[in-house]
Amino acid sequence: MSDASASPQSRTREPLTRRLRAAAARALDVLYPAACPACFAPVARNGFLCAPCWVSTPFIERPFCERSGAPFAQDLGDGLFSPEVIADPPVWSRARAVARYEDGPARRLVHRLKYGDRIELAGPMGAWMARAGAELLADADLLVPVPLHRRRLFARRFNQAAELAAAVSRACGAPANPLALERVKATSPQVGLTRAQRAENLQGAFRTPPERRQDVAGRRVVLVDDVMTSGATANACARALLRAGAERVDALVFARVVTTP
Ligand SMILES: [Zn+2]
Repeated sequence: MSDASASPQSRTREPLTRRLRAAAARALDVLYPAACPACFAPVARNGFLCAPCWVSTPFIERPFCERSGAPFAQDLGDGLFSPEVIADPPVWSRARAVARYEDGPARRLVHRLKYGDRIELAGPMGAWMARAGAELLADADLLVPVPLHRRRLFARRFNQAAELAAAVSRACGAPANPLALERVKATSPQVGLTRAQRAENLQGAFRTPPERRQDVAGRRVVLVDDVMTSGATANACARALLRAGAERVDALVFARVVTTP
């Protein structure tokens, strides 16, 4: 699936070895039975979790905060906002995620896509994201992946968020534009930083290039990433897209960190 599905951003940097490896993977699909993407147990069809992984994946379902998508411990009724978004409203309008980012299949899939050279996982992960984000995607004009800084893109050779955006695009029909946002500041990792330090770290990190503003202006944008931790990265991206004239920015991720039980 790699050639047809790769985003322009990653395709241009896709080395021959990666394409050969993808071709080899396709050949292996024919030779070997389908495997669960999280644990490699045999399954009926490729791209589907095995039953034990399916059961142990912490899928996020209602009741959740209508803005942030963070699950509520108990159902208090529809249309409620969490205390977190009321106290500190995010820049993006709404966020949705497939699963909680915690130990288990969801975390394994995220790590394998990002560090394990398993680009083909973006297909099923993107299809799940399209389902979890159906409300956001219903009237979306544009999908924009959270960009990597070009030095990191060069080192890793592909942007997992761009691969996910391409897969969500195939599932929902809205176009993905990996060039609508660029990371102009190589930020240090967010891990271990306080909330204020995270925001400071990301100050001015993203922008819509002047020649891309027309792609964004007046559009309803869905920002796409693999994981949402504090929401600070999505906030910084949303701020840049709104500055470029986006009508609305929502955020769709595969997994999100949920701090409240
Ligand atoms: Zn499994």
